[in-house]
Amino acid sequence: MSLIDVISPTDGRALGQVPDMSAAEVDEVVRGLRSAASRWAALTASQRARWLRKYRDWLLDHETELARLLQSETGKPWAEANLEIPYAVQAINYYSALAPGQLRDQRLRRHSLLAITKTQLLVWRPYPVVGVITPWNFPLGLSLLDAVPALLAGASVVVKPSEHTPLTVRAAVRGWTEIGAPPVFAAVTGAGATGAAVVEQVDYVQFTGSDRIGRAIAQRAAARLIPCGLELGGKDALLVLEDANIERAANAAVWGAMANAGQMCVSVERVYAHTDVYDQFVALVSEKARALRVGQDDQSYRADVGPLATSEQRQIVAAQVEEALSRGAVATVGGPTARDRDADGRYYPPTVLVDVDHSMDCMREETFGPLLPVMRIDTEDEAVALVNDSRYGLSATVFTADRRRAERVARRLDVGAVNINDVFANLFTLALQQAGCRESGLGVRNGAGALRKYCRPQAIVTARIQPRSEPTWYPYSALRGAIVHRIGRLIGGRGLARRLWR
Ligand code: NAD
Repeated sequence: MSLIDVISPTDGRALGQVPDMSAAEVDEVVRGLRSAASRWAALTASQRARWLRKYRDWLLDHETELARLLQSETGKPWAEANLEIPYAVQAINYYSALAPGQLRDQRLRRHSLLAITKTQLLVWRPYPVVGVITPWNFPLGLSLLDAVPALLAGASVVVKPSEHTPLTVRAAVRGWTEIGAPPVFAAVTGAGATGAAVVEQVDYVQFTGSDRIGRAIAQRAAARLIPCGLELGGKDALLVLEDANIERAANAAVWGAMANAGQMCVSVERVYAHTDVYDQFVALVSEKARALRVGQDDQSYRADVGPLATSEQRQIVAAQVEEALSRGAVATVGGPTARDRDADGRYYPPTVLVDVDHSMDCMREETFGPLLPVMRIDTEDEAVALVNDSRYGLSATVFTADRRRAERVARRLDVGAVNINDVFANLFTLALQQAGCRESGLGVRNGAGALRKYCRPQAIVTARIQPRSEPTWYPYSALRGAIVHRIGRLIGGRGLARRLWR
């Protein structure tokens, strides 16, 4: 069996090994899940919620050890590493309360004369096995954010975490077994080929990661005719209009760009500041970015920005900064001249760029690093056009004192979520459905949609009265045809003339 080394991004230390599982091993795990799937699906949503709540308690009882493990494999500051379990707990509580109502059988109102002789029952039937494939930036949070509603919907779930950060997910999934829950939740470890094997075996794929891999998964899912949900990349913009609270906007921009070393799908990756407030805003964000403490944290909150997950990721950031600088941009803080605190090439200093334009990679391509390019704009219309000039459409932020103006601007932005005078707030509003557009993905997250997407709606129609035959059945005749047609017109037409005559 081949193994994958898991390396600490802070100092290159070996943290452990996990199996690089083959397609046959994935097949075996999925077969196990499949054999337990129908019994799990037959439980009521409330019964499943009881298991999820028990699992929540287990997570809380093991919170510190899981958060430490997560910190070791991601290099996150403690303030961030210690947030993923509370986030997962919120998701468990929210979906556990929501599921019984949203997944209940529904008897639908008879909407027309044509349906009056039928009873109509809508039943939510879970996909037997759901595959959840996740990236390295929030290994546990993102895995559970999708696995929890899928389990509550009645599906069995196999999670494939990133090969860079598999340890926390593997440890957390063990908890499901420890609480004695039915064997419907498993983790498989490995690199891309293991993920590809998951796509070949499951009945629904929920993927979070790059648009490149998302596209490959969508193609395989299409070939197998199975549904998939894709949560992909972003190039999220922050707009600072002339009447904004500049101090709050600057704090939001710096946190939005630098949190998790900028490795968030919804990181603030470009700012458009109105010319009236541009200088003040740039001065503030530069000062705040300069004050950030870069380095290795333990549990003592001594760092604000950790390393990038891989040295390849650091190279992407460095290349974007160098390209911008070579074409006239200026770094007010950070950039390649800043003291590099790197031990093995994974840290990058928080960097603010000005004098940037839309021909530069840093304004067009996903950065996924601690970089904040700021552009001056003269009008709201110009800002809206620039925000929409992107192949991505995940989320955006608008700062202005005028709430109505903010909502008007928000409705013009082609993105899945807009935060007004806030940043990342949409990540915590679990009841609010959202769906990235363009190359940021396919399908919804949050709210009832997050549960129901793991089910197919099944229609059960019952005849309320049972004559020997129905007027639309055989044998066809001119008289019956004319009566049926006349009745159809009488019911469907509007206005006496159209109801009664041809
Ligand atoms: P990635 O696409 O390289 O990998 C994601 C996962 O896919 C990993 O587990 C990987 O092993 C697996 N994989 C690789 N090849 C595969 C294949 N052929 N078939 C199936 N699975 C395969 O992404 P990454 O580098 O781990 O993460 C960074 C990306 O994730 C960024 O683009 C970021 O924007 C995106 N992201 C999106 C969201 C969101 O909610 N929209 C959240 C976090 C991260």
